[in-house]
Amino acid sequence: MQYTHDTNQASEYAIAAMARIKKEKLAPSPEIYELWYVYYSGQSPEMTRALDVLVANKQKITNERCKELHQRFLSEARDEDMVRRAGDQINTTLKSVSGAVKDVKSATTEYSTKLGGVSGQIQGVDDPAKLKNILQTVMNDTQNMISQNQKLEEQLDKSSLVMEELQRDLENVRKEALTDGLTGLSNRKAFDAEIKRIAAAAAESGDVFSLLMVDIDHFKSFNDNFGHQIGDQVLRLVARTLTDGVKGRDVAARYGGEEFAIILPDTPLQAAVTVGDALRKAVASKDVINRGTGEKLSRITMSVGAAEFNKGEDIRELIERADAALYTAKHNGRNQVAAAPTPGKKKKKEA
Ligand code: GH3
Ligand code: MG
Ligand code: MG
Repeated sequence: MQYTHDTNQASEYAIAAMARIKKEKLAPSPEIYELWYVYYSGQSPEMTRALDVLVANKQKITNERCKELHQRFLSEARDEDMVRRAGDQINTTLKSVSGAVKDVKSATTEYSTKLGGVSGQIQGVDDPAKLKNILQTVMNDTQNMISQNQKLEEQLDKSSLVMEELQRDLENVRKEALTDGLTGLSNRKAFDAEIKRIAAAAAESGDVFSLLMVDIDHFKSFNDNFGHQIGDQVLRLVARTLTDGVKGRDVAARYGGEEFAIILPDTPLQAAVTVGDALRKAVASKDVINRGTGEKLSRITMSVGAAEFNKGEDIRELIERADAALYTAKHNGRNQVAAAPTPGKKKKKEA
């Protein structure tokens, strides 16, 4: 995480962090301090929300919980470290391969010079013993060349295995950085990047796309009634239902806490409302079972706000319009979809 606060701000967050650490009787280790500093600076809304959820659910804040949250939300350093180590390893591998290639290259030049010399030596030789000697030397040199080449081949095989392994590790780090740990959906960072990319493409091509903002209804009381663990189970269930209910190019992301966002490329508002409604129904039809006791719990519902991208508008405006529609859906009684009017577009007349 990068910190750009000035001295006054930094002192304010530091004081608040230390006071909280003392109040919760936590160990002021660098990680725990960073966690609370980030909490008070509000730099990681996802992490702040996760801590607020613990507090709202009257969960005890322990050193272990703090370390776990640090690992989950502030682990860029770990990823950076991993990337740096991979870079070092690539460097070492490339150096040793290029060294081996140079060795073989100079051996090849030497070998070819020797061969050239031999062809001169052979001319006019009539002593079979001498000729045999010359041939013996050529054979030795050739053998030498073959074994040098074999060594290089082995080294290349080894480094290609190292490179493949590094590629897999880096791909995993990249995926992890874009995935929400609890639900496996794209996280907020991935969503921000995707919507930016899709909006830029749509602005250029003129294609339409829509955004759904989804929020679980009365989730707080669900948490209060059944506990945080069941709450997490519900978040996973909703995430799975959303992924199952959208097509390949659509992007379902966890926007934060119990809010999700879905980007629907090539989808005008009316179609987006239809998708939103199908998802809403799918979630409402699911039984939530307490895995511990097998008990059937109350059903969950969600409200959805839909907005179509209005060419030229800022992504923030699009999100705000979808959010406002979500608010309308909540206000009108929840468990429903509301559509945001697209500025400048006439509303279709009801049939
Ligand atoms: P509304 O219908 O108006 O959306 O009501 P609500 O209770 O869902 O909304 P509110 O914003 O008051 O509460 C959201 C709750 O979501 C607060 C918090 O307990 C819960 N929550 C947020 N993130 C998580 C999480 O990661 N796990 C769990 N278990 N609960 C979470
Ligand atoms: Mg909410
Ligand atoms: Mg809610």
